[in-house]
Amino acid sequence: MDPLYTSYPLSIDNSLTGEKEAFVPVHEGNVGMYVCGPTVYSDVHLGNARTFTSFDMIFRYLKHLGYKVRYVRNITDAGHLENDADTGEDKIAKKARLEQIEPMEIVQRYTVDFHKVMDALNAFPPSIEPTATGHISEQIEMVQSILDKGWAYESNGSVYFDVTAYNANGGAYGILSGRKMDELQAGTRALDGQEEKRNPSDFALWKKASPSHIMRWPSPWSVGFPGWHLECSAMSTKYLGETFDIHGGGMDLKFPHHECEIAQNNACSEQKGARYWMHTNMLTLNGKRMSKSTGNTILPRELFSGDSPLLDKGFSPSVVRFFMMQAHYSSVLDFSNDALLAAEKGHDRLLSALEKLDTLDASKESTIGLEAWIDKCYQAMSDNFNTPILIAHLFEAIKWISSAESAIALSSADLSIFKAALHSFAFDLLGLRKKSLDAGDAHKDALDKAMSLVIELRAQARLNKDWGTADLIRDQLQEAGIKLKDGAEGTNYSL
Ligand code: AMP
Ligand code: ZN
Repeated sequence: MDPLYTSYPLSIDNSLTGEKEAFVPVHEGNVGMYVCGPTVYSDVHLGNARTFTSFDMIFRYLKHLGYKVRYVRNITDAGHLENDADTGEDKIAKKARLEQIEPMEIVQRYTVDFHKVMDALNAFPPSIEPTATGHISEQIEMVQSILDKGWAYESNGSVYFDVTAYNANGGAYGILSGRKMDELQAGTRALDGQEEKRNPSDFALWKKASPSHIMRWPSPWSVGFPGWHLECSAMSTKYLGETFDIHGGGMDLKFPHHECEIAQNNACSEQKGARYWMHTNMLTLNGKRMSKSTGNTILPRELFSGDSPLLDKGFSPSVVRFFMMQAHYSSVLDFSNDALLAAEKGHDRLLSALEKLDTLDASKESTIGLEAWIDKCYQAMSDNFNTPILIAHLFEAIKWISSAESAIALSSADLSIFKAALHSFAFDLLGLRKKSLDAGDAHKDALDKAMSLVIELRAQARLNKDWGTADLIRDQLQEAGIKLKDGAEGTNYSL
């Protein structure tokens, strides 16, 4: 049988060209995808999780279409400096200094946290998860080869990419972000180690370490460390080749990070690296980008437990995933308690319909246009991974299920196809989880039931002015790590 991608050819919005393009991989049937991973110096917030969940959905769909996918997502554990600048303290080393522990303890702690979050959100691990510190020699080789081509220069033990020389020789720095050279010169921060650079828009490939900079490695130029943009060029080339299919990340990485990556790859091998660039849009909170540096964040763990002043209650990871999938990956998504409550309703309706479907009989013949429905679900996904349209089609199917009394208007053969298709869309592609399959959810369900009983008993005690019992319940729960929240719509709890 032909793979599905021949029946439903994929098109992708390519941020490099600004066009929606037919997706043609370098090697037929195979896809190489690189996604910039987290800088592991603090807990990943829900915005980071959104980006990685979007690429998980993309990974799932590519595999579902029949491609053999190599998905590389790195861990940035060195070289990423404060303010994303070319000078300053390493983000990881700074956190380690503040906590008086080893930088690698910081890296370990937040890598583990990241994996836990992505696992809870039912994201598959990538095929390869390389670290910057594990690829120092590849990065040094890349710097050397850019120097050899004449598109970089050494200055005081550091090496900078020479943007002007690169562009004068046919390079296209600015191709991704659309920025022009004069804007680039004007827009560069004064603090970026300018005195060592020939031009303000040049960027660091290798930095000489100051005496206090503890994350350092020997190199031909100095004992130092790689520039932040270099690791992704080095690791994508190593694992996916000089030309590969998809490169992804959040929109905020377009400039300078991805612009610099393209220049580095191109300077090294005269290949542009990735052919399709995909950028996910931001998760916002109170209308502003969720961001570690401003502290405008909510953590996935707070969302699952409900332990946040922003929330009335906790939400299961599957609901959170549904909330994310209801928006297109390229649209802004605003986080709020109400938006999560609405997503929970939709999610639960979908899962209940799937449960009900298992109890329905088939009819003699099909009167529902099943084939056309399946077709449009795939069309939506193959049209630049349009999950909100897929979900709209799933709700159409829910109507067929809820309007059925004991039999659905499908023949028995079609009913099996319908069940398989619905399962595959909801679980394999959107990555939702069945309640009964999720041990965490089963425990949460039991706890929810026990807690609503306790909350009810406390409400009764208060009605009877039995303050002793009411306080005892609240205090004992507090001791067990459960907080009660009295709100306008009754009492909720969080862990
Ligand atoms: P960082 O650890 O800061 O390098 O970020 C890891 C990933 O999360 C990058 O791809 C960012 O683009 C992405 N990201 C950061 N903030 C947000 C946000 N508010 N919404 C969606 N993605 C984000
Ligand atoms: Zn990167």
